[in-house]
Amino acid sequence: MSDKKLHPETLALHAGYRNDETAKSVAVPIHQTTSYQFDSAEHAANLFALKEFGNIYTRIMNPTTDVLEQRLAALEGGVAALGVASGQAAATFAILNLCQAGDNFVTSTDLYGGTWNLFANTFKQMGIEARFVDPADPETFRAATDDKTRCYFAETLPNPKLNVFPIKEVADIGRELGVPLIVDNTAAPLICRPFDHGAAVVMYSTTKYIGGHGTSIGGVIIDGGNFDWEAGGDRFPTLNQPDPSYHGAVWTEAVKPLGPIAYIIRARVTLLRDIGAAESPFNAWQTIQGLETLPLRMRQHCENADKVVQFLQNHPKVSNVIHPSIQDGEAKRRADAYLDGGYGSLVGFELKDGLDAGRSFIDSLELLYHVANIGDARSLAIHPASTTHSQMSEEEQAKAGVTPGYVRLSIGIEHADDIIADIEQALGKA
Ligand code: PLP
Repeated sequence: MSDKKLHPETLALHAGYRNDETAKSVAVPIHQTTSYQFDSAEHAANLFALKEFGNIYTRIMNPTTDVLEQRLAALEGGVAALGVASGQAAATFAILNLCQAGDNFVTSTDLYGGTWNLFANTFKQMGIEARFVDPADPETFRAATDDKTRCYFAETLPNPKLNVFPIKEVADIGRELGVPLIVDNTAAPLICRPFDHGAAVVMYSTTKYIGGHGTSIGGVIIDGGNFDWEAGGDRFPTLNQPDPSYHGAVWTEAVKPLGPIAYIIRARVTLLRDIGAAESPFNAWQTIQGLETLPLRMRQHCENADKVVQFLQNHPKVSNVIHPSIQDGEAKRRADAYLDGGYGSLVGFELKDGLDAGRSFIDSLELLYHVANIGDARSLAIHPASTTHSQMSEEEQAKAGVTPGYVRLSIGIEHADDIIADIEQALGKA
């Protein structure tokens, strides 16, 4: 079965797994094992020397996680993937695979708070500089680039502003300067395909839409196989110069017979080996269950969100509704250029009566859950000014797109009428 001709609905159910040769299991089995028996001393030596590919130890690879990796790589149009313990681990590995102490990378300011902390504080302590630039003008990426810049980083659909990132514009600048773009596509699986627009690496928190049921933390990095790390010369020493931790292997050379997978192989056999943020096989399995229905769910998420947007736009207590479907100007152009098949299920709105109204709206919800999460099959809500963004000053909140009356919704796949009825009754009490 060639994956290339199949549609996402089919790949989500079939890519990466067809037959379990021993038990003939149709569903992907959970390989809940730490280690794998070698056939012989020679087999073991070959696996360690990467002369042969095969399972050694679950910290580095696992057959269940392998199905998830292959399936996500196929869906995304990439060449290979690496499953890790969380979205945070995916962002950490995506950057550390290219940056060492003394290096820098340029990142959009519009980021999930956890990613911001990782970049601004933890990487700084490691001697890696994150250069934050405003994605409103893609040229800011060029201006911040120097010969120590190893990559660009951005989220496709960052909340709370929900302004879609100019993927092609920044990827093009990067390709001109020899700098790869890494895209966190957590909020827009299937509706955005960053590789089609020039991204080199895509990452996800699979905790959100891909898992979809709020059961398992996980992350993945997908290699587009479309960036020439050798031509980059001195910019990519981790990939194209001898690796002292692996008998001096030069990853771009070592993997040549296997295809353009130097980036993802190095992430697996050095970063995952050394840092150990491996995904548990059970979480990989749970994530596969979610992935199998992702195309259906994304359609319903987007359809329901559009109906909620329409309802909120006509409500007298709401002063502003934020969703890519109803933006104007350049923001709308970007939404239309990069989102296909829906505008996502994240919806923001502002209550005319500010902070107190925001808090009472949240306290009055009966169906929607009040949680700091997105992408669950259930509808979720949060009031950022009193929770996720409460440590910031009002001025900092405003810069981040959070006003006192701002509420963020992650619209689920319940019946749209029931979601709207709950929002309506809670607005009545706000
Ligand atoms: N990226 C985005 C866009 C997120 O929203 C999150 C979590 O909310 C993460 C990364 C981190 O993912 P995880 O919670 O799986 O570590």
